[in-house]
Amino acid sequence: MAALADYSAYRATIAVPEDEETARQREELKEAAKLVAELADKLGRAPTACVVTFGCQMNARDSEKLCGILLEAGYELTEDEEADLVIYNTCTVRDNANQRVFGRLGHLHAMKKKNPGKRIALCGCMIQEPTVIEKIRQSYSFVDLLFGTHNLYKFPELLHRMLLGGGMLIDVWDKTDAIVEDLPVLRKYPFKSGVNIMFGCDNFCSYCIVPYVRGRERSRSSKEILREVEKLAADGVVEVMLLGQNVNSYGKGSEGELSFPELLREVEQVEGIHRIRFMTSHPKDLSDELISVMRDSKKICRHLHLPVQSGSTEVLKKMNRRYSREQYLDLVGRLRSAIPDLALTTDIIVGFPGETKADLEETLSLVEEVKYDNAFTFIYSPRTGTPAAQWPSCMTEEEISEGFDRLLKLVQQTARESVSRLEGRVEEVLVEEMNERDPSLVTGRLSGNVLVHFPGDASMIGHFYDVKLKENRGFYYIGERI
Ligand code: SF4
Repeated sequence: MAALADYSAYRATIAVPEDEETARQREELKEAAKLVAELADKLGRAPTACVVTFGCQMNARDSEKLCGILLEAGYELTEDEEADLVIYNTCTVRDNANQRVFGRLGHLHAMKKKNPGKRIALCGCMIQEPTVIEKIRQSYSFVDLLFGTHNLYKFPELLHRMLLGGGMLIDVWDKTDAIVEDLPVLRKYPFKSGVNIMFGCDNFCSYCIVPYVRGRERSRSSKEILREVEKLAADGVVEVMLLGQNVNSYGKGSEGELSFPELLREVEQVEGIHRIRFMTSHPKDLSDELISVMRDSKKICRHLHLPVQSGSTEVLKKMNRRYSREQYLDLVGRLRSAIPDLALTTDIIVGFPGETKADLEETLSLVEEVKYDNAFTFIYSPRTGTPAAQWPSCMTEEEISEGFDRLLKLVQQTARESVSRLEGRVEEVLVEEMNERDPSLVTGRLSGNVLVHFPGDASMIGHFYDVKLKENRGFYYIGERI
């Protein structure tokens, strides 16, 4: 993938110590807030901002940071894209994710024609791709601000500069070493929160764009992580999700830093935190020490998302996953014998270049054997800039789509069987929200991440209840409070 050096003219190059950077961004935020206040005077109301998140948990967490900054700048947050400022926090994991963003930009343009004061910003993984920046420069010149994943912490400054006006502002870096702490964050849920523990990925799976758009692995200091978890607990958070592209390699390459299992032990000590989740775990880096820590923990949830991607060793080799079918199954065996009630979920790609019908059969047999609680299944989509994008497919489109349908059916069937082990049991549920369809029900999650709907009201959100799991509806339960 080409470096982003072509855009150096737009790029801030000042390398400053992180604390100093935090102070600088806080000053920028004050300046932005002055401009937002002027805008409010002009409009006779608080300007509104809408942040739309595409993609994964990492992006969801980044959006919480954007929202925290916007709120402190004086914006009123809304989910309506008619807002005075709209930010798309993009994902580029699949090509159709990019197409969706371009499609929606057309609608934003129409809105901007009616409201010329409207500002449009794009950030996230997609913006790390030089071809995307070029396309936006050429064909979407109404966009006001583009920034990438490495300099999200500079958002106060970029917001300030964008509000000063002066045409499309582009600030995209090809890498960073900085991890800037202590900028405002607005959590979506008051009782649970994501916590970034590391950024980037060193694995270079042959289909994945992440190492190119999120950079090499960088771990946050465990002291900062624990300080954040303690602050969250003091603020009423009961569940944390430790986030990273490959959490199992946390601390590697940082002299004297804790390992991931050691970090989990420390997080477990934080009073007030009742549930600990983490994602994503690369199977090749999942150690026996981690299995022991999970087994002995009272707080680590009985759920592990363990992406397998394929059940064929040949395909796994082409994917550069660095484990075989046998090694993965052996790991699953060790996990299940140490933690019998562990719920496993996974990601699977169908139609990877070079995958044959026989390889696909191996994936189906692996799903049959593991019996996941859920699996996210995808048809392979080439990402420009990754090695696999150059490789030809072995199967026809019909074969891929037929294989995909078979896999989907099998996942549904095995997930139902697996989740049915819980039927009739009384389990602890953390209530997360009102049910979207039925206002007499609340929706919560088990430690194993299975959703449960049961009668309740808004006062229960953020609290734990013992719930009898009465009816298995496939991936979720209908329950009754005990
Ligand atoms: S482990 Fe592989 S699939 Fe996951 S982010 Fe890293 S390169 Fe991508």
